[in-house]
Amino acid sequence: MEHDTQTLLDRQVLPPRAPLVDPFARAITYLRVSVTDRCDFRCVYCMAENMTFLPKVDLLSLEELDRLCSVFIAKGVRKLRLTGGEPLVRRGIMTLVGSLARHLKTGALDELTLTTNGSQLPKYARELVDLGVKRVNVSLDTLDPDKFRAITRWGELDKVLAGIDAAQAAGLNITTSTCRSRSCARAWPSAIRSTRSTTAPAVLPATCASPRLADGSASSPPSPTISAKAAIACG
Ligand code: SF4
Repeated sequence: MEHDTQTLLDRQVLPPRAPLVDPFARAITYLRVSVTDRCDFRCVYCMAENMTFLPKVDLLSLEELDRLCSVFIAKGVRKLRLTGGEPLVRRGIMTLVGSLARHLKTGALDELTLTTNGSQLPKYARELVDLGVKRVNVSLDTLDPDKFRAITRWGELDKVLAGIDAAQAAGLNITTSTCRSRSCARAWPSAIRSTRSTTAPAVLPATCASPRLADGSASSPPSPTISAKAAIACG
């Protein structure tokens, strides 16, 4: 009976259907899924220091997240990004990654990736690679330790850089992104400073875009790319 109920549920949510398209008839193939509202940082532009998070009962379980993502993949999503909060602080997150990775093996999914603050990468980078993740995006607003602390409140730049090191050592490709807020724009010069070291094999495209400042002018990050070792050397 339990088996029949499960089969019925599968029929209700998993049959192949027409692919998702937006109002301009463009296929929707990229999905970002927030797996938690929690984080081990408290960035000033993101959340209060004394946050009240959602009750866990109000969050989708790992099984429900897997089911939801699988439905979207069945409807044509080819690239899936797990976000948060900080996705790597979600308990059991590797179970979800491992489960979703089955879609990489079948070819239904082209890429499974995460956006992370990097603090947990020393712990998880190797396992992510083993499960089939090839790339992560690390949010990094500055390479100045004091500014980093001021922006993230609870964050330690050294831990994030250690996470980037671990990710590189594990073979992950890394992209970085920078907050567009004015307070973070002031910290950009250190985050995107210098490409003087050319020894690092991995290049980190900075995905930050020019924000509009209060006077309407664009504040432009001077370089679209930095190398990992250059970034670390600049810290
Ligand atoms: S690391 Fe990301 S999720 Fe965490 S507080 Fe900062 S901006 Fe928010």
